[in-house]
Amino acid sequence: MTSSDKPISGTSRRALLAMTAIPALGTLLPAGAAFAADTPASSDLPDFAPIPPFAKGPAIGPEGYYVAPIRRNLYWVTDAAGYVAAFLTTRDGVVLFDAPPSMGGNLQRAIDSVTLPSGRPNRVTHLVYSHFHVDHIGASGLFGKDVVRIGHTETRRVLRGLKDPRRPVPDVVFDDRYVLRVGGERVDLAYHGPNHTIDSIFVHFPHHRALMLVDVVIPSWVPFAALNVSQDILGLVGVPATALDYSFDTFIAGHVKLGSRREVSLHQQYMDDLTASAQHAIDTVDRTPFAQRYPGNQWAVTKTYFDALVAATAAPVVAKYTGVLAGADVYTDSNAFVLIESLRLESGYGLSVHP
Ligand SMILES: [Zn+2]
Repeated sequence: MTSSDKPISGTSRRALLAMTAIPALGTLLPAGAAFAADTPASSDLPDFAPIPPFAKGPAIGPEGYYVAPIRRNLYWVTDAAGYVAAFLTTRDGVVLFDAPPSMGGNLQRAIDSVTLPSGRPNRVTHLVYSHFHVDHIGASGLFGKDVVRIGHTETRRVLRGLKDPRRPVPDVVFDDRYVLRVGGERVDLAYHGPNHTIDSIFVHFPHHRALMLVDVVIPSWVPFAALNVSQDILGLVGVPATALDYSFDTFIAGHVKLGSRREVSLHQQYMDDLTASAQHAIDTVDRTPFAQRYPGNQWAVTKTYFDALVAATAAPVVAKYTGVLAGADVYTDSNAFVLIESLRLESGYGLSVHP
């Protein structure tokens, strides 16, 4: 997920307009001054519900990162952008799990701050990719050529195609399961099918009672827009049940803070409630007035009809989860739209065959 990305920059808008502009537009919009009015004043932006204290991540000091143990020699590290990575110190070197570019060189600084006092080696020998998204592994290139990079087979296929020097292709790949043993430690990697991305993996630390799965459950937050801009919604919906089958106390989600089993269950409940509400909306919102209002304009009919479905789906869910999950009033409508479309098009809910 790319929560730090800006939607449409002034530059890309200008580029788009440059491609499509009619000549007369140039006389209407003087160069350089045309788009200043696009940026709203902060006082014009909408209000949202306050963030519950339990949903907040740790305070970030002047060093720019926060690092703390999860259990014994397994640590987590986060930054002001709210990205989360993890690392395991061993007698033979460090195993790093994800390398968010927002942390970049702070990853090694965080590792040094832990390993140097303990006398354990600080060199990263292995780097595990949770999935191919650049916002979680884009600092991989900083660790040079001598690191063993591990990921899913699909991660290798996608990264080979992208040819991004920030994200070197994994050296070791697996299809279903891989047991990583380094310096007397054990980590179990598993693939349970596509969900957030086609290559998202579960990373289980059996001796640390921790489970890492990135960009699916954001502890004590609703998902980011469009269900964390996920690729496989059917797979995504099934993930909490799969996660809860693992033995763990700490959930490493890739964002904001560490989570608990209860927070994974709460995410599952939010998704169940969103699904039930979407089904009720599909069952009860009548398409007729939209078709009557915009005869012949198929997009106007579907736009307004789906806007009504989203509003009907989101309203009770926002009411139930405001104060329970942060951002419920911010992204539930976006999440509702994606879930409604998955229900209709993938699950076939509400679709009848003409006799
Ligand atoms: Zn992602």
